[in-house]
Amino acid sequence: MTETLVLLAALLALLAGLAAGKAWERYKLRGGRWIDRRRARGSPHYILGLNHLVSNQIDLAIDELNKAAELDSDALEIHLILGNLYRENGQVSKAIQIHQHLLQRARMTTLEHAHVLLSLGLDFKHGGFIDRAAETFSEVVRLDPRNTHALLNLEKLHEEQHEWQQARVIRQRMAEAAGGEQNPRDQAILAFLENELGLQAMREQRPEQAIKHFETATHLDDKTVPAYLNLGDVRLALGQPKDAIDVWERIVQIAPDRAYLAFSRLKSAYAEIAVPTRFLDLCRRLVDANPQDWRARLALGQHLAENGDPVRGLDLLFESLVHNPHGLAIHQAIWRTLSALEFRATLVTRYINLTRDAVFYLDPHVCMRCRYRSTELLWQCPQCHEWNTFVEERIATAEQSEEAPA
Ligand SMILES: [Zn+2]
Repeated sequence: MTETLVLLAALLALLAGLAAGKAWERYKLRGGRWIDRRRARGSPHYILGLNHLVSNQIDLAIDELNKAAELDSDALEIHLILGNLYRENGQVSKAIQIHQHLLQRARMTTLEHAHVLLSLGLDFKHGGFIDRAAETFSEVVRLDPRNTHALLNLEKLHEEQHEWQQARVIRQRMAEAAGGEQNPRDQAILAFLENELGLQAMREQRPEQAIKHFETATHLDDKTVPAYLNLGDVRLALGQPKDAIDVWERIVQIAPDRAYLAFSRLKSAYAEIAVPTRFLDLCRRLVDANPQDWRARLALGQHLAENGDPVRGLDLLFESLVHNPHGLAIHQAIWRTLSALEFRATLVTRYINLTRDAVFYLDPHVCMRCRYRSTELLWQCPQCHEWNTFVEERIATAEQSEEAPA
């Protein structure tokens, strides 16, 4: 539904722009007589077509706009929109045919040409003709260097092909087109693309190159968590555990809510340099700083349970459960610990009381942009392809929902 509304808004904006540009061209000499070019736009078919469009009745809109188009075969915007409607209706080849036909017109302004090409590029993309779509969007950008719609489509096409270098070039152009000021969103996306380039270098066994990319990513946006994780991984692989620890500990500073991503890495690296208690200190600091932090409690509880103090460990795991009753990882850790304590009856009863109203999810996360749900944290959404839009989804217990005012 949101997508349809966006499409609608784009179409209407396009229509308004083109209609204004064409206003001076109201009359036109054709076949030796002057024709009022407003005829098509003044016709009931045109108005009806737009009305159907607004009420999302695409088939009816196509019928009426086809009739309006017959009245004036030159009305560029009507044909352009008809093509777009065919595309959205799944008739991609028909859309391509209409838009390609429009391109053969002799007298079009550069902007009109760019609009038609943009529509054609979307047709190609919709039909899965990725190379032709990329070529067409590039041509739009050549005609209209600030066309953010074409730039964005081009960037996403490169990302889908894992052409991170090209995607970065496009994002840089978008940042430049937006003017001199640094936009945090551009910086953040550039940083994620830089991180992907680093991962690519890692896979190709070029650690020095990878380090440069990850460092650039953190300079572009110091909240790019995966770049710290990956940078530490490279340092560790190069036999530099202390440097790796320094990098991972920075996550605790810049994004404490994501620090848990470095827990297992830090835990084994601390053991490697023979300071295992530093892990306990780290978890305690996180719990003190944020009492809601169930992940630090879970890690701390597990650590204690595994290292000779299961009763205190279980206490922490129960606390963790109170803050996130649906965390499957917590339940699993609790069962392991209960088993180690030979299912002491009083402890099992506490557990049953704590979990009475829980519903189970592995580790629910949701995309803030498109509501896509995932069982883990993702850095790029597989549905809307936006970067860094996932947040932890916590479902309140029935009791909490009742307490919360609507
Ligand atoms: Zn999404």
